[in-house]
Amino acid sequence: MPAPTQKTLLDTVPKQLLIGGSWRDATGGNTLAVEDPATGRTLTHVADATVADGRAALDAAVAAQRGWASTAPRERGEILRAAYQRITERADEFALLMTLEMGKPLAESRGEVAYGAEFFRWFSEESVRVHGQWATSPDGKTRLMTMKQPVGPALMITPWNFPLAMGTRKIGPAVAAGCTMVVKPAQQTPLTMLLLAQVLQECGLPDGVLNLVTTSHTGEVCEPLIRDPRLRKLTFTGSTEVGRKLVEQSAEQLLRVSMELGGNAPFLVFEDADIDRAVEGAMLAKMRNIGEACTSANRFYVHESVVEEFSRKFAARMSRLTIGKGTRKDVTVGPLIDAKAVAKVTELLDDAVAKGARVVTGGQPQRGAGYFFQPTVLADVPTSARLQKEEIFGPVAPVTAFRTEAEALRMANDTEFGLVAYLFTTDLSRAVRLSEALEYGMVGVNQGIVSNPAAPFGGVKQSGFGREGGFEGIEEYLETKYVGIAL
Ligand code: NAP
Repeated sequence: MPAPTQKTLLDTVPKQLLIGGSWRDATGGNTLAVEDPATGRTLTHVADATVADGRAALDAAVAAQRGWASTAPRERGEILRAAYQRITERADEFALLMTLEMGKPLAESRGEVAYGAEFFRWFSEESVRVHGQWATSPDGKTRLMTMKQPVGPALMITPWNFPLAMGTRKIGPAVAAGCTMVVKPAQQTPLTMLLLAQVLQECGLPDGVLNLVTTSHTGEVCEPLIRDPRLRKLTFTGSTEVGRKLVEQSAEQLLRVSMELGGNAPFLVFEDADIDRAVEGAMLAKMRNIGEACTSANRFYVHESVVEEFSRKFAARMSRLTIGKGTRKDVTVGPLIDAKAVAKVTELLDDAVAKGARVVTGGQPQRGAGYFFQPTVLADVPTSARLQKEEIFGPVAPVTAFRTEAEALRMANDTEFGLVAYLFTTDLSRAVRLSEALEYGMVGVNQGIVSNPAAPFGGVKQSGFGREGGFEGIEEYLETKYVGIAL
């Protein structure tokens, strides 16, 4: 297949709302601009849904729910499997679109396409493995039957940082379980999700099963849906701040809720670690997605005996990265999402430096068009620095030395977040001991990346609740019904 060109792709990608199987403009015809963060220029416009459009999308999901729940699981699985195939065949288009609207380098976008598509393959296999139980009651008089049924229409709200994968890991299990849905992608990156919706439609997803609304009136469109008793599930990936607000809204009707929220990942390097491997892991954990991932290492705690070697090697690798527009072949670091993100990273860095941190490499936003920031390593970062507590969401790596394992563990757990922690050690006992003691939903041992469609992704504490992927992922979209049968 010939490589897609930017113009053809932007001309052909759907830009309307998908409601009940029809692509249509927003009521009133308004549109919202999608920007290229590498240039600050407008790429294209998509429909800007109103409150009425949001309601229409839920109407369509509700209307399709009963029929969809009764389709054969194999049929649902085959649609996902076909979509997996189609996304893989069109990987270059998905990757280019993602790089254009989100900024990450093309190689990373291809990585996300492979990762995102894999959720469809995984859940195509899970769709036929949903089963209940049959038991005899302890007194022998009754039979206890449990069955799994789809939760019902779900609202899916996704962030801009992984425009495809944050969608597929919700849509995959929902389709497999027999739930219909309204998908609301981030307004900064709606194009990838629009193409995905088109692909699912082409692969035979029935009308009304997936409805997609893009909007700049986010709160006004979503809140009435969350408060609508016909909605049965809310799944959200995004910031803890917004997640908390949505949990409050969903309390009214005690909605089933999954929350994939912010992180503040610690990255621990012990004196017995393979330092080169730890640096390799640090590059992945920090620089994947330009540092704009909930799983990004936010705080590096390194044993005092190896901190100098680690920081030097890490800074050398960081300083060799090439900043630029993600569509350029040589580029390894794309822009941040917007000017606000650059301002926030700068503010956190300045605060750390004012409190005594030393810049080993980087330390500046890049001048000129686009929202670029230099890959940065900070040494001697005091625990009072704001970036030890707040998600940086950018390419800045603060390094702090520790003396004992107990001190490292205390610092690692000293946060309200609990998504992922990384640890590097060659001592097996220490790896097990710390994996148990770290208050996180996920732990990476000697690896700087934990995301895997076959594993349950999710956090504890203020990083949220619920799991996406793995055997657990489909459970978020299923209810357990118990039927007692007297003999
Ligand atoms: P965000 O501001 O919370 O936005 C996420 C989504 O929520 C977007 O679609 C946004 O729409 C929508 N939203 C915002 N306000 C809303 C409201 N009042 N009602 C309903 N929806 C609303 O987060 P973000 O800046 O896009 O993403 C970054 C955050 O996501 C980080 O904290 C990161 O850690 C977290 N994240 C977590 C995971 C995980 O799996 N744990 C994965 C990726 C990212 P608009 O685009 O229209 O504002």
